[in-house]
Amino acid sequence: MTSFAPETTRFAPSPTGRLHIGHAYAALFAAQQSRKGKFLLRMEDLDRGRCRPEFEIHIEEDLAWLGLDWVKPVRRQSEHQDDYDSALSRLREQGVLYPCFCTRKDIAAEIAAAGEAPQGPEGPLYPGICRRLPPDQAQARMAAGVPYALRIDIGKAAARAGALSFQDLGHGIIAANPGVLGDAVLSRKDAGASYHLAVVVDDALQNITLVTRGEDLLPSTHLHRLLQALLKLPVPRWHHHRLITDDKGVRLAKRHDAVSLQQLRRQGVTPTQIRRRLGFTWD
Ligand code: GLU
Repeated sequence: MTSFAPETTRFAPSPTGRLHIGHAYAALFAAQQSRKGKFLLRMEDLDRGRCRPEFEIHIEEDLAWLGLDWVKPVRRQSEHQDDYDSALSRLREQGVLYPCFCTRKDIAAEIAAAGEAPQGPEGPLYPGICRRLPPDQAQARMAAGVPYALRIDIGKAAARAGALSFQDLGHGIIAANPGVLGDAVLSRKDAGASYHLAVVVDDALQNITLVTRGEDLLPSTHLHRLLQALLKLPVPRWHHHRLITDDKGVRLAKRHDAVSLQQLRRQGVTPTQIRRRLGFTWD
């Protein structure tokens, strides 16, 4: 049974381009699911190479035009590295992280040499090269200033946490399979945290009770549930929603300029028409 109590939800775009109709769906869905509770906006701007301040401004303009309002101030991930560092050190203390010096090329070469690799939702999983590196060699590379990411030793971490599950309002109770993404990166070479780490830390710090997002991110939730267990964070509920596709059934991406909200607005489309087209009937 779905409860109708107020929830705290959020829309968490990366300011790397203009919002399109798929984002409008995600934002309206999150706002609707807050059920007159709190609706938050969070800028996932850790990828400093791709994020731009002007896109943040456009995002806020587009959301306001859609008729949405959110609790201020907006949290920007780039301003909270301390929070991510403290989560990383808690994980390090548990011995579930290791430095990874691999380049994409190293990983591809290892997979080609092995002739096979366990598959994840988006291709082959990391083959564990640096997990097998003797600690003194890892130390020496770090001391020499070789750039590194931090990966989770998923086998060790999952064994430590034991069996876990999570609740999705669309799919019911799901048994967590934290290994689905393999030894995922939690701190990137070019950013002090990865999406997976930052989203888990932020959702807890912002007291999010219901995480709504596209069903393409369902595999990530298995890992997020494990991180919550290791970091002893409160566990929200999730609602993974459908993805909006174009006429040919292809998922929308920011590069589809034709469907940006800005363009639709210029063509004279109204927010009410967008809501109706996406199936939202509330005002
Ligand atoms: N920044 C993520 C995205 O744009 C949000 C994912 C989430 O809501 O957890 O896909």
